[in-house]
Amino acid sequence: MRKPIIAGNWKMNNTQAEAVELINALKPLVADVTKTDVVVCVPYTCIEKVKKAVRGSKIKVGAENVAWADKGAFTGEISANMLKEVGAEYVIIGHSERRQYFGETDKTVNMRTVQALKNDLKPIVCVGETLDEREGGITNKVLDTQLYGAFEGFTQDDIKKVVIAYEPVWAIGTGKTATSEQANDTIKYIRKVLAKMFTRPVANKVRIQYGGSMNPKNASELMAMSDIDGGLIGGASLKAEDFSKVVKFNG
Ligand code: PEP
Repeated sequence: MRKPIIAGNWKMNNTQAEAVELINALKPLVADVTKTDVVVCVPYTCIEKVKKAVRGSKIKVGAENVAWADKGAFTGEISANMLKEVGAEYVIIGHSERRQYFGETDKTVNMRTVQALKNDLKPIVCVGETLDEREGGITNKVLDTQLYGAFEGFTQDDIKKVVIAYEPVWAIGTGKTATSEQANDTIKYIRKVLAKMFTRPVANKVRIQYGGSMNPKNASELMAMSDIDGGLIGGASLKAEDFSKVVKFNG
């Protein structure tokens, strides 16, 4: 059985004060959740404060990116060590916004994920097709390239530590959700690729989230699907009430 994992992606939102306020509102709402891993991935500047604010709860804290090198001349980057120092346990890698606006490639996703694992950070690796790619019928081909690229050189032990977020780019922040069948079929395909790369039993252990306009209204239907093991939540993670309802998708 794969334990569900719901992770918030705050993106470039919340000052430290706003972050603490949001966590303080969220904590009591998810206090009784034990069967789902709850994570909030927050801006670098909020990590330390959020880590303190989640004390006494089961909420885990993550970052939204990590450098591929240990240290050195990489202006603007933050290393895995630095993230761990302030309390991050998870890290999102290869989000489509990073691919679209900041030149992230499958190669850099690979390097960042290797670096996360080397430092015992739990990576949430994002993959997904654009609208043009889906309409052009090349979703599977795009996913092949992203998955083989991201996990090149990975051992079976490595991949078991990774969470994959399947995020169709056309569903992120648009209010357009993939249907639960579309999301489940594509995630099944991702698992099939992982089975080819790492064996079927290993593929069956990897947690794969859906992400893209997931909210309190559609979460339970999506989460009821056989291969969807969680969600990466953008907009709805910025409101404690909404995020808690997604986390409590099963009532
Ligand atoms: C995301 O940014 O990963 C995401 C899924 O955003 P939203 O939930 O707002 O579509």
